[in-house]
Parts: sequence; C-alpha cells; structure tokens
Amino acid sequence: MVNLIVNTDSRYKDKPESENKPLNKIETKDRTLKDKKFIRSFESKIKSIINKYKLCTKKDRIIVACSGGKDSTTVLYLLKKWGYHVEGLIIDLYIGKWSKQNIVNVHKFCKEHEIKLNKIDMRDMFGCSICFIRSGIQEKINLKNCAICGVIKRWLLNKKSRELKATKLATGHNLDDQAETILMNMIKGNPAKSISQTPKTGIIEDKMFVQRIKPLYFCTNDEVRRYSQLMDFPVLYQPCPCSTNATRRKIRAQIAEMEKNYPELKKNIVNYFLKEYSEKRKQMLKGTQAVESQATKSKTKEFVSEKIKYCNICGEPSRNDICQTCKLIMILKK
Ligand code: SF4
Ligand SMILES: [Zn+2]
Repeated sequence: MVNLIVNTDSRYKDKPESENKPLNKIETKDRTLKDKKFIRSFESKIKSIINKYKLCTKKDRIIVACSGGKDSTTVLYLLKKWGYHVEGLIIDLYIGKWSKQNIVNVHKFCKEHEIKLNKIDMRDMFGCSICFIRSGIQEKINLKNCAICGVIKRWLLNKKSRELKATKLATGHNLDDQAETILMNMIKGNPAKSISQTPKTGIIEDKMFVQRIKPLYFCTNDEVRRYSQLMDFPVLYQPCPCSTNATRRKIRAQIAEMEKNYPELKKNIVNYFLKEYSEKRKQMLKGTQAVESQATKSKTKEFVSEKIKYCNICGEPSRNDICQTCKLIMILKK
C-alpha cells in the first residue's frame, strides 16, 4: 500500500524555528553580481539540456524522485518554476534521523511552492525499514548497502510513478554521478551496464516503465551545491549514512585527483560515452553494425535485445522471470 503525505503527521509540524523561514527569501536574498550571473548561466544550462535532449514538454506529467538533497530539490524547483506539470515523490526509507529530516525538508519545500508531494512508506510496502531488509539480506549474501537499496528504490519509484500516471520520472543525477557510473562499469568490465546512463532512458520501451529523465546531466556536483546554497534550499548536505559504496568512493577520489590536471575530465568521460556508446547502441538496435570487442558486443546485445517480461511474483517489468526486488525479498525470507 502506498500512501500520500498528510499534513496532520506530527513529524511535519514539530519543526524548529529556524526551519520555518519563508522560502520567498529565495527572491530577495542579497547576492553578488557574480552569484546572479552564476544562477542565470546554471539555469540556462539546464534549460538547454532539457531542450537538446527533448527531456520533457509541458504536456508531460512529471514526477520528481525527491531524496531531500540538493539535486532533486533543484530539479523540482526549476521544473515548477518553468511551468511544467510536476509532482514530488519521496520514499520514507526509515534511515533514522537522516530520513526524518529529509522528509520534513521536502514536505516544507513542496508546501511553500505549492507542489503536490506523494510519499511511499517502506513500512507500508514491506512492513519494515530499508535497514531491516538490508541487514537481513546481508546476513545471507554479500551485497553492498546501495546495491540493495538502489534496486528496491527503482522498483518503488517506477511502480508508484506509473500508478500516478506519470509520463516522466525526473531524477537528480548530476555530471559527477554519471561520470563515476560510466567509469565504474568500464573498470568492472561491464560497459554495457552504462547503456541507461543517458539524459533520457529508453532502451526498452514498455508501457509498464516510466521514462526517466536527468535534467542535471551536465551540471557538476559543485555547481548544484552552489546553486542550492545560493537559493537557500532547505536541504541536508550530508551524505546518506548508509552510503558505503567503496568502489564509487574510490573512483570519485581518483577523478578528483585527475581533475587537477584535466579540469574537463568528467565532461569528457560523459561526452565520449554519449558520442561513441550511444551511437553503437542505436546501430545495434537497428542490427546494422558489429562492435569491435566480442565481449562488449555479446554483453551489449544481450542487454539491448532482451525482451521485457513481467515478474511472476509482483507483475512488475523485469528482465527475468523474477524481478530483482522479489529475488531480494526471497533471500530475506529464506
Ligand atoms: S545512498 Fe545508498 S543506502 Fe543511502 S539512500 Fe541512496 S541507495 Fe540507499
Ligand atoms: Zn517482482
């Protein structure tokens, strides 16, 4: 059962004084000329990403996957500001105070910007928190926190967005996230896994899948942070306490190190991926071109040509008879 946030929830009422500052401060805060110029160029960069990649139109019904962080709040704010039909969707994962504060922040933000906020409650859906699910699974198999949480979140977001009749699901992925993922998949020898790392997903079309869009695709983490701080968005800047993806952390540190000499590194990684890999994907979808590497070819072909199935247990779209989420729940119940 998925429910909507109701204003009577006491968690959203008991807010400290400092959190009740009106958001119209966004328009009046003193900013330097440099700040104003940055805000203009940041916003126009996102507009051009939306236009260039045809991410969405005013006819779309867009659900923004809100985490309470700077990225998704920026997406939510700008899409609303530009007149798109937009609603927020947050999952209460029950990761202690971190989840509580994020929900308070998103609720406050949506209320003040007159954005409808939908909520998915882990305990309504699965009867327990993500931490309980995760530790139960980790007692049986070796899987990282984010590998478990990410699968379940994607399942929930797609399911709920579809139920809300969304035509697009917007996420806050930024340039840093994209470059790290592309590099990580290459290093792990599975570049085909990056096939969905485009500004707009759409490799397999299926009425059960809501297309995902990433308006911050070319915005760096630092740019989004600066924008969010200048706008005084009520967000937490601390990472999730459960984010222990060691590989991603290492890649991030190495990219930061290399960027000292190659400041355009992240943009170059992503541009290379978009130019070369997306072209190969299109060609393979048309069945017209082989790929140089046999290993890459087989993995990619497998990836793109697989027919979508529906999970025998939950009925959600899946590449196998049983979807990843149901497999995780089965492991938990063993
Ligand atoms: S950082 Fe990892 S554990 Fe935390 S919410 Fe995101 S996917 Fe889940
Ligand atoms: Zn399933």
